[in-house]
Amino acid sequence: MDTRGHSKEPRLSWVVPVYNEEDGLGELLRRLKLASVEIVGEDYEIVCVNDGSTDGSLDFLKSQEQPALVVVDLARNYGHQIALTAGLEAARGARVLIIDADLQDPPELVGPMMALMDDGNDVVYGVRKKRDGENWFKLGTAYAFYRLVSKLSSTPIAPDAGDFRLMSRRAVDNLNSMPERFRFVRGMVGWLGLKQVPIHYDRAERFAGKTHYPLRKMLVLAIDAITSFSILPLRFASLAGAICGLLGILLMGFALYAWITGNVVQGWTSLAGLVLLLGSVQLLILGVFGEYLGRMYLEVKRRPLYFVNELITNGARETNSSPSFRKNRRERS
Ligand code: UDP
Ligand code: MG
Repeated sequence: MDTRGHSKEPRLSWVVPVYNEEDGLGELLRRLKLASVEIVGEDYEIVCVNDGSTDGSLDFLKSQEQPALVVVDLARNYGHQIALTAGLEAARGARVLIIDADLQDPPELVGPMMALMDDGNDVVYGVRKKRDGENWFKLGTAYAFYRLVSKLSSTPIAPDAGDFRLMSRRAVDNLNSMPERFRFVRGMVGWLGLKQVPIHYDRAERFAGKTHYPLRKMLVLAIDAITSFSILPLRFASLAGAICGLLGILLMGFALYAWITGNVVQGWTSLAGLVLLLGSVQLLILGVFGEYLGRMYLEVKRRPLYFVNELITNGARETNSSPSFRKNRRERS
């Protein structure tokens, strides 16, 4: 059964995570439509995932009459990466383009991206050349973050690439088959392999509203990225152990020398310093272990990644709160 009245899959699906973006959505839909019509005619869909917005975003989306619009209303706010995942699982298109709702990434790039995919690439990912309206702090932390993650992991993660990317159906299917809970989507796409090419563009300012990535969320994303793509931090324990052991041997030599020459009671300060230093190294390493252990705990529970409150496709609605929704609207159509 097809809920949209189309018998075949669209050529292009847009996937848009939406969290409190009411002021920008009208402009977004207008520009997505314009950009699509030029490239694929009417053969597209726009999958907006409402990630538990608390403003009028959902009402706005529901009030739209665009036949191409598909709204996935999640049961609550799950965060950007899970919202993306829900959108990727709901999308039926032969190609899927992920874009943020704030119009920082230009939808008009769809033409060149489609052309690059026609050349046989499976993923065309946007790389930001210049970013307007973002302060040095965001730029600096983003810079450090991308370099750190790619140093720590063996998966190629393109620096300065966001989630703005066009993917072929097989790339999306492969990505959807990856079950992990802590999702750093752009890294997971890198892990997929296949042919991936960058496309460079200037990043604009947000059209409306403000960023939902304050420092705290950026840190969480960074830790998710590092822990899901690398176990190197766990190896730091052995490294730190080896270094401390070496220092210990040197210090033992010094202590013996002091004992032989008769100066023994002094040195409380250095002793206290050593105890504090070693204690903090041990706690730090325990913390790193805990970070991985906690993730394993959450992962082995095998909970579904999200629940859907309502799926709205061109007026026809269905409620589906079961994860079987993830087993793909495509199969049903
Ligand atoms: N977003 C979301 N859930 C959240 C936070 C953000 O779906 O909990 C969406 C948001 O609506 C936007 C995209 O994710 O479409 C990127 O967020 P934002 O623009 O705030 O991030 P930034 O571009 O500042 O990194
Ligand atoms: Mg943004």
